Amino acid sequence: MKDKIIHLVRSNIKDLQPYESARRIGGNGKIWLNANESPIPSSFTTNITLFNRYPECQPKNLISSYADYVGLLNDQVLVTRGADEGIELLIKAFCNPGEDAIIYCPPTYDMYAINARIANVKIKEIPTFRNTWQINLEKIESNLNKVKLIYICNPNNPTGNIILKKDIINLLKITLECALVVIDEAYIEFSPKNSMIDFLQQYPNLIILRTLSKAFSLAGIRCGFTLANKEIINILHKVISPYPISTIVADIAVQSLNKNSIKNMQDRVLKINSNRNWLVNELSNISLVEKVFYSNANYILVKFHMFEKIFQHLWTNGIILRNQNHKIYLNKCLRISIGSYSECVRLIKEIKILSNR
Ligand code: PMP
Repeated sequence: MKDKIIHLVRSNIKDLQPYESARRIGGNGKIWLNANESPIPSSFTTNITLFNRYPECQPKNLISSYADYVGLLNDQVLVTRGADEGIELLIKAFCNPGEDAIIYCPPTYDMYAINARIANVKIKEIPTFRNTWQINLEKIESNLNKVKLIYICNPNNPTGNIILKKDIINLLKITLECALVVIDEAYIEFSPKNSMIDFLQQYPNLIILRTLSKAFSLAGIRCGFTLANKEIINILHKVISPYPISTIVADIAVQSLNKNSIKNMQDRVLKINSNRNWLVNELSNISLVEKVFYSNANYILVKFHMFEKIFQHLWTNGIILRNQNHKIYLNKCLRISIGSYSECVRLIKEIKILSNR
């Protein structure tokens, strides 16, 4: 009986490998450096006590708070259940299953491809160049047939590099009348000058994804934003669920966008960037470290001699990192989210213990 029910599942879902989120992988950690969360919490309370009514689909005060923060008009902003929902809604709205395709450029965030697979949308995988991690424009241009969406992560996760602005602009020009370019700026607060926000006016095919999960230190509330011209936002209104943002989430998100909270967020970014620089410096002097890649975000990618031993030793000692060894070009690489200063000190201490054995 159960077998018969299982047979009802769509064929593309049957063999789907779900996203291995940090929480799904598990571990018994004391120091969590595997999900690019903020190690410095932000703290909010809510005065809302009654929950018998549905929230607005797109809470107006939240939309206008975020629009103010990024300097856009309200009708250029969509609020979603994390940036992850934005990735999914774009595929839902623009890609015909079994017909259209997305382009993505690994090594990068896996959810672009996973959402395409779930929707039965084709995936054209065009790796970045080895070593520079920049996008291969020529190859993208020659593969645009049937492509509706091109996902670019900037700063890129897990490599931490910035995609050259001139390449993104060229990509926007090449695709102006045939595809949408989605720039995932989940980590842009750690390197704000590299945002593409100023180009939304000029390029109607540009879409930007943002989140409160990283620099804003609010991964637990699940709140993200899609920024684009109003025609695209209106299309996304058609496919979003009726009440995606809970009353409490909207209330906390609005608080996190007031002047004082934004200043706190920027202070946290300074602190985390400074911890990152300290960590990079320390790692560079450890013989087990083969290479530390330059990062513009709240994580670093590190290539180790004996990466497996290091990963396992840290795991056993309650320090949980993210293994990237299976990804294209990233053999022997681990991604380390930047923790608090004391967490960074502890991490270095443990790696040095192994190094001296
Ligand atoms: N984009 C990138 C590049 C990410 O790393 C993540 C989080 N892992 C997301 C989007 C999703 O963020 P959110 O928590 O807003 O869904």
